[in-house]
Amino acid sequence: MDGNSTIFSLILSGEIPSHKVYEDDFVYAFLDINPLSRGHTLVIPKETSPTMDTLSASAASSLGSVLPKICRAIMKVTDAKDYNIIQNNGESAGQTVPHLHFHIIPRYSDSKHSFLWNPNPIDHSDATKLSKLILQELE
Ligand code: AMP
Repeated sequence: MDGNSTIFSLILSGEIPSHKVYEDDFVYAFLDINPLSRGHTLVIPKETSPTMDTLSASAASSLGSVLPKICRAIMKVTDAKDYNIIQNNGESAGQTVPHLHFHIIPRYSDSKHSFLWNPNPIDHSDATKLSKLILQELE
């Protein structure tokens, strides 16, 4: 493996096996080896990028365009009605494999998995500054 390679590179090259559910020229999807629920699927770009901010626009576009149909297929086959899509970027955000991936995690009536979510009301004074800065950065 080169410096940017991860276990997902080995899955893409076929050097280690995976339970493939989808593949095209730019995207690969397979079942997570430690699923939070039945049908837990990982969707990855073939482009090697650790996180979303370094992904090319064309790879992002390919990923985005196939996510809905992969979700539909998983929901149909598992009969789950609801699901979470989770995407971790960086170690402190919970990312363990530094090759960008979306988790699609079906939720069943007896599902117990949870994602920590402890929100606080927005600080409008800071939000006014922050939104302006991000807006400028994106211009
Ligand atoms: P994250 O913590 O967001 O980086 O998620 C990485 C995911 O990759 C975890 O849910 C692992 O269970 C999964 N994973 C790691 N190795 C494999 C593998 N060989 N095949 C399938 N899933 C894997």
